[in-house]
Amino acid sequence: MTILGHLINGARVDDAARTHDIFNPSTGEVGGQVSLASQATVEDAIAAAQAAFPAWRDTPPAKRARTLYRFKALLEQHADEICRLIGQEHGKIVHDAKGELARGIENVEYACGVPELLKGEYSKNVGPNIDSWSEFQPLGVVAGITPFNFPAMVPLWMYPMAIATGNTFVLKPSERDPTSTLYIAELALEAGLPAGVLNVVNGDKEAVDTLLDDARVQAVSFVGSTPIAETIYSRASANGKRCQALGGAKNHAVVMPDADMDNVVTSLTGAAFGSSGERCMALSVAVAVGDTAADALIAKMQAQMKTLRVGPFHDAENDFGPVITRAHQEKVCGYIDSAEQQGAEIVVDGRGVQVPGFENGFYVGGTLIDRVTPEMTCYLEEIFGPVLLVVRAGSMEEAMRLIDDHEYGNGTCLYTRDGEAARYFSDRIRVGMVGINVPLPVPVSYHSFGGWKRSLFGDLAAYGPDAVRFYSRRKTVTQRWPSAGVREGAQFAFPS
Ligand code: NAD
Repeated sequence: MTILGHLINGARVDDAARTHDIFNPSTGEVGGQVSLASQATVEDAIAAAQAAFPAWRDTPPAKRARTLYRFKALLEQHADEICRLIGQEHGKIVHDAKGELARGIENVEYACGVPELLKGEYSKNVGPNIDSWSEFQPLGVVAGITPFNFPAMVPLWMYPMAIATGNTFVLKPSERDPTSTLYIAELALEAGLPAGVLNVVNGDKEAVDTLLDDARVQAVSFVGSTPIAETIYSRASANGKRCQALGGAKNHAVVMPDADMDNVVTSLTGAAFGSSGERCMALSVAVAVGDTAADALIAKMQAQMKTLRVGPFHDAENDFGPVITRAHQEKVCGYIDSAEQQGAEIVVDGRGVQVPGFENGFYVGGTLIDRVTPEMTCYLEEIFGPVLLVVRAGSMEEAMRLIDDHEYGNGTCLYTRDGEAARYFSDRIRVGMVGINVPLPVPVSYHSFGGWKRSLFGDLAAYGPDAVRFYSRRKTVTQRWPSAGVREGAQFAFPS
């Protein structure tokens, strides 16, 4: 069985003292193993990044960008293989993997504009014959720690911009589906990145803790679940590092009585069940305003869900694939059990779904649960599976209070035909990314991605303009060149 190693200083490195099984969730079989890096291996990667930094820092941004142009071309050229690897280890259907990769490539395209993005600020004559400017310098060695659900896209949120701004990078992908991530990093080297500029260490907590504690690492970008995000943020901050840690979500869609219900139903079906609900922007709660809207929504969703197809990743006829592991399948079904025990109504039940020929795969069918109330476990916690909860509210204000009171604040969406209501909602709601009749309001690469409340720890969001700031440090220089022979007396007050 192959054991996936690491990419350090431009070469594959094996360190297979500890390993982790990589499953093919569509079949339930083990497809390979990944090596879990020891502290020493991670330190080697940090040392390689540290050694590569001085030359990379001084490489002109336009030259750095040219490497990224070549990287983008290679990603497009190898898209089929990348998507096959994503599907095999993650389970998402191939067309979904293509969408993920396309959103990742967008971030490479944005990073290609780095000479423009790094242009500083300049003021002439801030005092007599004195000029001042602010420039944005790289930080040094930066680490990224990424989740299983977007093995291509989320790393591409991070290192193209970190590298474009002159940093060197150590990436720690999810140990559950690391092969596409490593394959993509090798394409970045093929595009011409010097050895050590981008390193990949596979691993678990030991690797992450080493990255968090090593003084040579200047900043940490993390994406994953909220409990881990919070721990990472505190530990990195306590160690004096800059940190952004994006966490989990519970994204509500408010369905107003005037919404076009047919449109709502098709839109919600894709946003709730696409990628098996394993997206941090998945819509997992529909808040129907008024019983008439709620009853119509339930009836139409029930009809629509009869056409849902769950099955293996390679069959493009399927709407979504398995969840990531057997343990996660059991966890998702456990949430459905708890909803039933706590008095909700299971309208469509995805527990125990069988996919002929793939009986050992980690499948959960699309599930619809009505009459969910805010104190239920299934409402409070992130399920991360193909489960849509319906909560009934009396008014838009009540729906908004529910959303505001939830600990997560990643994304939300309002379905309505009323522009005034939409404007009020998007202005007041305490959530970072808002859709109006748009179910998955994932910002494009030239905006930035980030939730509010316990969906993001840190001040700056991921990718886009915030990433330029996250991966660089402002320096302001004030300069004058006195004429020869001119001498000034000492000044004891600020010049004004
Ligand atoms: P996870 O938190 O289990 O793992 C994320 C990363 O942290 C992985 O690389 C993992 O190896 C590492 N890790 C796990 N346990 C650790 C520990 N105890 N100490 C140090 N590192 C540890 O998350 P996941 O299951 O891979 O991904 C799903 C989660 O990610 C969901 O909660 C989802 O909402 C969230 N997510 C958020 C966003 C966002 O942008 N906000 C995007 C994608 C996923």
